[in-house]
Amino acid sequence: RPLTSNDLIEEHRICVCVRARPLNKKELTMKDLDVITIPSKDVVMVHEPKQKVDLTRYLENQTFRFDYTFDESSTNEMIYRFTAQPLVETIFERGMATCFAYGQTGSGKTHTMGGDFSGKNQDCSKGIYALSARDVFLMIKKPNYKKLDLQIFATFFEIYSGKVFDLLNRKTKLRVLEDGKQQVQVVGLHEREVKCTEEVLKLIEIGNSCRTSGQTSANAHSSRSHAVFQIILRRRGKMHGKFSLIDLAGNERGADTSSADRQTRLEGAEINKSLLALKECIRALGRNKPHTPFRASKLTQVLRDSFIGENSRTCMIATISPGMASCENTLNTLRYANRVKEF
Ligand code: ADP
Ligand code: MG
Repeated sequence: RPLTSNDLIEEHRICVCVRARPLNKKELTMKDLDVITIPSKDVVMVHEPKQKVDLTRYLENQTFRFDYTFDESSTNEMIYRFTAQPLVETIFERGMATCFAYGQTGSGKTHTMGGDFSGKNQDCSKGIYALSARDVFLMIKKPNYKKLDLQIFATFFEIYSGKVFDLLNRKTKLRVLEDGKQQVQVVGLHEREVKCTEEVLKLIEIGNSCRTSGQTSANAHSSRSHAVFQIILRRRGKMHGKFSLIDLAGNERGADTSSADRQTRLEGAEINKSLLALKECIRALGRNKPHTPFRASKLTQVLRDSFIGENSRTCMIATISPGMASCENTLNTLRYANRVKEF
């Protein structure tokens, strides 16, 4: 049965979903098998290949339950409706919203968040960044919000190896400061005022090309960095609400910690640290715990104000590759996503 608006979970502070992409050309060429089934709208099954002591092979079925699960036929628009869209209103109600894409490199994080950057005809209009912006511009026209006289700004930055770079300002390296009131500031981060969705699309394109410029492979770089796109509402200069949309670094980098190359090892360790800190911060949000370990990484530090406060809401989209070759990473992704909601 397809998801309908009746299925929408309205009151959760934390929503965790899974999205499986179709097998890609490479996997099909390698005759990789699809080991994922999504039997209902909130269950995902992994059929993991195993071997008995007598070397006979079998598939072990593992079942996970989430708020929503999306199979390969799902579109970005549909995933958006059940994840980020319900959070748009939050920022108009003076709240903080975050939406994360979490998963191994190649599983579909950027496709989900940013849109399609893979081919020659790059199209960011179908990504969750753009869909969210579209609805912010619709919502601001509603009489209740129109009278607030809000202004809309966008930022786009990347966190690479624990350092922050402005994607809307030629990758300038920025400092993160915490003041006496524990407010965290990214000093000098460019905040661009935007008046329509098209202007936002331009910024996403600029930021994305800035992100990958000078890189031999777009994926090699983006797999090691977190990209943060924010829509900020201001009222008479003061922050009213903020929506942070985050394309996380690939979670398979744990393997790098045994790499021969020192830089690669350090990057891998930094990514592990930030993803662990992220999980703990979201869990703290769900338990209304006063102590959020946001200082444990740059990522959680810059998102500090989104993890505290009465009116903070988060969704996580765990993206998975369907192939048998990715099974181990897929199980790691599903376990992590499970822990985010388990209290
Ligand atoms: P990640 O950002 O997680 O490394 P990408 O979003 O770059 O992964 O996806 C890897 C490749 O798979 C890209 O070529 C992308 O277009 C394709 N892809 C990802 N998700 C889907 C999907 N749901 N449907 C079709 N193609 C997809
Ligand atoms: Mg990516």
